[in-house]
Amino acid sequence: MQQTVNLYANHKVTDWLPTSVKEMAARGWDQPDVVLFSGDAYVDHPSFGAAVIGRVLESQGLKVVIVPQPNWRDDLRDFRKFGRPRMFFGVSAGAMDSMVNHYTANKRRRSDDAYTAGGIAGQRPDYASVVYCNILKELYPDVPIVLGGIEASLRRFVHYDYWSDSLKPSILVDTKADILSYGMGEKTLIELATRFKRGDTVEQMSDLPQIGHLRPAADFQTIKTDADIVLSSYEKSLKDKVAYAVDFKTIEEESNKWHARRILQLMGDKLLIVNPQYEPWTQAEVDFSFDLPYTRLPHPRYKDKTIPAYEMIRHSVNLHRGCFGGCSFCTISAHQGKFVVSRSEESILKEIEKVTQMPDFKGYLSDLGGPSANMYNLHGQDTTICERCKRPSCIFPNICKNLNTNHEPLTKLYQKVAANPKIKKAFIGSGVRYDLLLNYDLPTPDKLEYIRQLIVNHVSGRLKVAPEHTSDAVLQMMRKPPFALFKQFNKIFQTENQCAGLNQQLIPYFISSHPASTKRDMAQLMLETKKLDFKLEQVQDFTPTPMTLSTTIYYSGIDPYTMKPVYTARTKDEKLEQRKFFFWYKPEFRRQIDAELRQMGLSADLGGSAKGGSFNPNFKQNVGWKNPHHPSANGENKSKNTKEKKSNFKSRRK
Ligand code: SF4
Repeated sequence: MQQTVNLYANHKVTDWLPTSVKEMAARGWDQPDVVLFSGDAYVDHPSFGAAVIGRVLESQGLKVVIVPQPNWRDDLRDFRKFGRPRMFFGVSAGAMDSMVNHYTANKRRRSDDAYTAGGIAGQRPDYASVVYCNILKELYPDVPIVLGGIEASLRRFVHYDYWSDSLKPSILVDTKADILSYGMGEKTLIELATRFKRGDTVEQMSDLPQIGHLRPAADFQTIKTDADIVLSSYEKSLKDKVAYAVDFKTIEEESNKWHARRILQLMGDKLLIVNPQYEPWTQAEVDFSFDLPYTRLPHPRYKDKTIPAYEMIRHSVNLHRGCFGGCSFCTISAHQGKFVVSRSEESILKEIEKVTQMPDFKGYLSDLGGPSANMYNLHGQDTTICERCKRPSCIFPNICKNLNTNHEPLTKLYQKVAANPKIKKAFIGSGVRYDLLLNYDLPTPDKLEYIRQLIVNHVSGRLKVAPEHTSDAVLQMMRKPPFALFKQFNKIFQTENQCAGLNQQLIPYFISSHPASTKRDMAQLMLETKKLDFKLEQVQDFTPTPMTLSTTIYYSGIDPYTMKPVYTARTKDEKLEQRKFFFWYKPEFRRQIDAELRQMGLSADLGGSAKGGSFNPNFKQNVGWKNPHHPSANGENKSKNTKEKKSNFKSRRK
């Protein structure tokens, strides 16, 4: 606790955006321009959305206050305390969709909340965006509401809501918000600030990129142009799951385009208009957001409490935005975009310097990462090709020939960070995309160097990777590489560890009950991972979150890219049947699994104990990979295949 108090020693409360009338008065303000309502605790750090938006608006000269986790169950004093803002209310459910935050994949209520002080659950309502906006609309009907955050972003069109098991209209209908800012909001909010300052009406702002808004359905014919995409109406989608699935494909392709089109969708007496997103940001624009004057600390109102999500990132630094992986179940590219935009070295090193100045910093950076650990500075070589591309993933089903996958800039960045005398170790806590490193072959020199540096200098004992499944059919549905690639990376990881005299673990993540996964696939997953000596710990059931391909398949039963039917485990029993294979070593499952394996014509000795992914001393018999830099590599391996690979590798080194 003493340590937490020290963190605040060099700060005064006015270093944070005001959260109370007293703090606002301390800044000499009598009325705010913007009041932000957030479902999360207020942490003034570039990883927390409300802080980012608050600081961005502040940089435009606006007086911004924040109401974190307002109480919606009392006399609503939190919603009234700042009164009417000069410009608008900003509302976000927080860093996660409030339903994902509150419920497990089995729809059981969670007992904790990582984004709340003390990790306490219940500090925000279900469907927080809807509840907050409705209260504000009732109290201040004439004040515009700008809705943002991931919950709004991924529910902007007609969407499937797993928790009510129903198709819902755009969240704009239920919230009655005036403007929905989707994706990363900085540029939108800067433009909105300019427009509000010059006195534009909300209607005049309807041309802004990357926003959604509603108009009367009766205006459809006057508004629609030939360039627009028109999706099936909400009413048609309710009756026709195939139409809904087809629309998802359109939405996903447009969201991943450099130059997207406007999308219209009718719902009841309303017309949803979603303007195209901004073109990929420049490095300077991303730097600008990260360089704002964050204290990097939770507001002092929480200083005696721990906010678990903050603890995870307090000594970490984000290197880039966006992800071109396009995994079917993931929402990152839907929210942050497919095009990776990397920060400049200068901006990153400046932030690292700030971290080293923190009173509790002991020399260990917990993560130099991003949505994926190793996408820093990777992008299309010829951007004119990218400008015409609509692939949802740059690396599935194969690595695009136009994608520059050179890892040297990242390796050099690691070296620069390591050269800082205040840094003892900089760890990589984000997940590593091994398919980018291997691509069905031995790594090229830049990637081998990256792998070696990563393993020797940047693993805190455990390295996260996400094979997600072992069945290639399921992996295909997930847009993930074949399991053989994981096996190859596992061999390299073990060999490099042994050469460096290290005993580190590879921690693979897996998902059960994903569309296309059957009970038999899960039995195979158990056998495959057991053979590799993994006792799995990072496992989860598939959760159908809004606006993913996997969720669309779960709801509609078809893959909109092939229009073929896909099996998905739906009932609680079907899901538990799949999940239990993760836990084959638990006595309560062994007999049942044994019997089911026999029924399926499979067998395994479940009495054996897997080693939890730890280093296997017998690796020499088990792996084919040899470290070409290690003296023992010369001529020891007689395998024709490996010999060939080695010679390929050497020729690439020349
Ligand atoms: S052309 Fe290739 S690198 Fe560019 S966006 Fe498309 S898939 Fe990605």
